[in-house]
Amino acid sequence: MLKLDFHPSGRHFLQIPGPSPVPDRILRAMSLPTIDHRGPEFGALGLDLLSKIQKIFKTENPVIIYPASGTGAWEAALANTMSPGDKVLMFETGHFATLWHKMALRLDVQPEFLGLPGYEGWRHGVQADMIEARLKEDTHHELKAVCVVHNETSTGVTSDIAAVRKAIDAAGHPALLIVDTISGLASADYRHDEWGVDVTVSGSQKGLMLPPGISFNALSPKAIEASKQAKLPKSFWAWDEILEANKNGFWPYTPSTNLLYGLNEALDMLLDEGMEQVLARHQRWAAGVRAAVEAWGLEIQCLDPSVYSPVLTGVVMPESVDADAVRKIIYERFDLSLGMGLGKAKGKMFRIGHLGDCNDLTLIATLGGCEAGMKLSGVNLKGSGVTAALDYFAANPLNAGKR
Ligand code: PLP
Repeated sequence: MLKLDFHPSGRHFLQIPGPSPVPDRILRAMSLPTIDHRGPEFGALGLDLLSKIQKIFKTENPVIIYPASGTGAWEAALANTMSPGDKVLMFETGHFATLWHKMALRLDVQPEFLGLPGYEGWRHGVQADMIEARLKEDTHHELKAVCVVHNETSTGVTSDIAAVRKAIDAAGHPALLIVDTISGLASADYRHDEWGVDVTVSGSQKGLMLPPGISFNALSPKAIEASKQAKLPKSFWAWDEILEANKNGFWPYTPSTNLLYGLNEALDMLLDEGMEQVLARHQRWAAGVRAAVEAWGLEIQCLDPSVYSPVLTGVVMPESVDADAVRKIIYERFDLSLGMGLGKAKGKMFRIGHLGDCNDLTLIATLGGCEAGMKLSGVNLKGSGVTAALDYFAANPLNAGKR
């Protein structure tokens, strides 16, 4: 049981980079009665959902929806395309790339982990030239896939996936391109078909503004062909039975009906707003938050401005300061949750999520909590980040009148 003092007045500020705040409209949609998942109403909902979700991935190919968190969809991507002992090339961009690498080892896929030396890889994006060079060396085509994280949630770096595709093509290599955009989808530009991605992995609790619990594999014809030969054990994750049942809007097992109501609502919200507008407001929020970090005189975790994430910003603390202690003060004093530094970044930085159902003022409040909490923690700030972000938002309206 949660104690009462965990419910202070007003709304909690959930500004971690996912789960992101769930809009009331989606919560209401999920509160509708659960229906028969083999009945006609469900089939109609399923078909509608499966066609709308393609628009978010920018694909005309099938998108699989799993009742699982993103980690499940990671496993599904590998289990459906690889055989025991197959080699894959992965790129170390941060904590999530590292966890996916660990999973590949456990699944008996042999991952090779490319990356920039030391901590550098955690402050930059995927280096497509390194991938190209490695693939050119692989003249026997032993590497069966290139697996990269699009939006590295642990660092706030959004890698250039089109450049990775170009690198694979320039090497003339047949490897599949498998991309995790668990935290990028519906917040950062993503184009499954145009970028020639074979499997895109994503999840519900970030840009789609849903609670955790559903995840996705967007496929390509080449990935579907590969799945026919892949020998890793799988049953729950197997695409073939799901694709068959999906033809009529159903699943081979009980889908998460009420989360799917929520997904339906989220897709309507995003598509009504228009994806261009959705992406533009994320870029704008990110720029406002970066203006604040700059005014504070602090470093952003991402060192390459061309790959700043529109989803989150990593704020690096001065060396003498424990970022987790700062986060704790901010949480306790201002009821504001920020993302912690993960893995190699633990204690060095915190992460501000600026995705999904935010607006200028929720972000200003978030920056206010950060600013006050850092002052209470004795962090020496150069100036006011709140004022800098307010000025940025005021000077850069997004389609004035609309969010
Ligand atoms: N990959 C990325 C980039 C993520 O941000 C996350 C979760 O935050 C995951 C994978 C794992 O997904 P989940 O926690 O939903 O299993």
